[in-house]
Parts: sequence; structure tokens; C-alpha cells
Amino acid sequence: MENFLEFAPIGIYKVNTEGRFTMANPEMAWMLGYESASSLMEQMKDIASEMFASDESAEKFFFQLFEAEQVRAFRCELKRKNGNDFWASSYAKLIQDQDGRTQGFYGFVMDITRTVRMENKLQQANHELLRIATLDGLTQIANRRKFDEYLTKEWKRSLRERHTISLILCDIDYFKPYNDNYGHQAGDDTLRRVAACIEENSRRPADLAARYGGEEFVVVLPNTEQEGALKVAENLRIAVHKLEIPHEFSMADEYITISSGVSSIIPESSDSPQKLIEQADNALYQAKAHGRNQCYLYSPALGSASNGNG
Ligand code: GH3
Ligand code: MG
Ligand code: MG
Repeated sequence: MENFLEFAPIGIYKVNTEGRFTMANPEMAWMLGYESASSLMEQMKDIASEMFASDESAEKFFFQLFEAEQVRAFRCELKRKNGNDFWASSYAKLIQDQDGRTQGFYGFVMDITRTVRMENKLQQANHELLRIATLDGLTQIANRRKFDEYLTKEWKRSLRERHTISLILCDIDYFKPYNDNYGHQAGDDTLRRVAACIEENSRRPADLAARYGGEEFVVVLPNTEQEGALKVAENLRIAVHKLEIPHEFSMADEYITISSGVSSIIPESSDSPQKLIEQADNALYQAKAHGRNQCYLYSPALGSASNGNG
């Protein structure tokens, strides 16, 4: 039995009702920073205050132990003799005599510091991965993937609740000549500024602004009627113009401008979100064809679109 305890890779101990170790194996002593089991038993007077890193976890541990008569896989930080903490997983069981009086308890302790560190790292990596997977690398606003996911979700919600869902598709005017003349670096900077501006001006919590691709952006506006959506689109157009980013090579204005197509639908089960995108794209085409730096609303009655400015 003694060999068995000495060889055990986990801490094994017994504690009396005063909270003192009456038995401990070498691993238990080493884990807590003592040279030997005997020095641990001599020197540690009260495990509640000396072994647990915080009073709170000691309280929890003892509460569970007395409540359920045992504790399993109890995770908390324990304190080494030198004051350093480590993560431990503890098992303990009350010892009772024949009359049911508590005599103390015995337990097992495993140092799980490496596991906890790895779990934390994994959690951080997962957060980062989720962030990267849903954000556009250049502009740091939502990416196409996030947009697709969000539109599908909000489309279904609108279908259920019989609400109007709207979409704005924006495209920077004459961006190719901008890139060609000011360079790709300046193009990227401008894309960042326009993206931030569109995101800032899509104000409702449910609104989602995303980069649709290249120099195109999209805003999903759940529970928004077409008049409201057109107003948002117009605000975005004005806000981008107000950035006053010089564009000498634009045929539309002296500054960088955007054109937008707006569409609004109360979804039917026979429709798909694609319809909303197609209609917004159709309206965007009209905005471009009519001189750019403007917003057009898709209108099925006309089979085309009508100008938001007029
Ligand atoms: P229009 O007014 O009709 O929209 O004309 P446009 O020049 O903006 O449109 P076109 O589709 O011909 O060109 C889009 C340009 O956008 C092509 C490319 O130079 C630029 N572009 C697309 N993605 C990026 C990017 O990630 N970085 C930079 N710097 N430029 C990009
Ligand atoms: Mg384009
Ligand atoms: Mg363009």
C-alpha cells in the first residue's frame, strides 16, 4: 500500500475535522510545494485557509462536500507554499463513523494547470477564428459570409413575422479610375474609410453593413419599410460625400461618391433572399445609368426602378 501511494501520480490525502492532514502521499506534498508528506502534515495547520487560493473556492468546496457528502472534479486554484497558484481538479468524500458522525474526509488532487492553459488558449483561438471568419480583412466590417448568414436568418424571421425586410446595395462610383490614378494603396485606404462610414451610418442595432465584394457594400435592414430604407440609403450617400475624398477622375463629382439600389420585400415562402439582392442590384444599375451619386428604389410596377431623389 505504501509503495502504491508513493508511486501515485496524483495527490492522495486524508484530513481530520480540524482541517489538518492526517495522511498524504509524496505527490500531494510536492504539488503544494512541500519537500515531503511529513513536512506537509506538520506545517499545514488548516487546509481551508492554506491550501485554497481563494476563500470563495474553499467555501464552495466545503459546502458541496457537506451537502452531497462528496465532491467530484471540483475545479479551482490551489496555493503552493511559495504563494504560487495552480489549477487543480479535486475529488473528496466524507468519512463517517458508524453513528454517522463526520470524522473528516479523504481526497484526490490532480494538477490540471496545463489543461486549463490549453483550454484558455483554445478558447482565445476560437474567438479569433470566429472574428476572422466573419470580418472582412481589409475593411474590418462584416464580410460576405457574415452577410449571407445574416440575410438568411433575417429573411426567415421576416417570413415568420410578416415584416418588411430591406436591402441597400452600394457601389463606389468610378473606382477603377481612382485606383488607376491614385494607386492601389490609396484605393484600399478609401475602401476602409467608406466602409467605416457606411457601418457608422447604419444605426439600428439590427442593421448589418457588410462588404459585398470589391468596392461594393451591402446593408441589411430588418423590419424596415421601403421609405425608411431609402432614407438610410440617402443618408449613406450624403455621409460618404461628406468624407470629401478627392476624386479628380470621377465623372460624377469632385469627391468619392456611391450609388445605391434599394429593395424591400415582405417575404413569401415561395421567394428566396436572392430576390432581394437581385432587385437591389437592378435598382443599383438604374442609379448608375442615371448618372451615379444617387439612390434608386426597385419598383416592380415599372419593371425598373425609380429615383430616390425625386
Ligand atoms: P462604376 O462607377 O460603374 O461602379 O465604375 P467602377 O470603376 O467603380 O467599377 P468597376 O467595376 O469597373 O471597377 C471596380 C474597381 O474597384 C476595380 C478595382 O480597381 C477596384 N477594386 C475592387 N476591389 C478592390 C480592393 O480590394 N482594393 C482596391 N484598391 N481596389 C479594388
Ligand atoms: Mg462594382
Ligand atoms: Mg463601382
